[in-house]
Amino acid sequence: MNETERFHVNQVARLRCCVGIRFSGCEGKEDVHHVAEGSGRRSWFAIAKLCEAHHVGPIGLHSGTKAFIRRFRPPGDSEYGLLVWTNEDLAKAGDAFSS
Ligand SMILES: [Zn+2]
Ligand SMILES: [Zn+2]
Repeated sequence: MNETERFHVNQVARLRCCVGIRFSGCEGKEDVHHVAEGSGRRSWFAIAKLCEAHHVGPIGLHSGTKAFIRRFRPPGDSEYGLLVWTNEDLAKAGDAFSS
């Protein structure tokens, strides 16, 4: 991981769970999900903050991507919509981070 990647990962790690912000119901430890993990090379810029429940819990992304997308409807009805939410949350957090 280079400096730029580390900076981004740290910023995302400071966010709340991107599903919990919109739906509540967070539980367990904080996690970072790599969007489309397992399909090709991982990017540290394709990460979303999730809690354990929304990541690997019974209603979590890894328990069934289709059910997860039907339930939470991320932008574009795709796992990549989690990156849109992450961008929104980073923008909203920007002022807090810079102070
Ligand atoms: Zn959550
Ligand atoms: Zn994951």
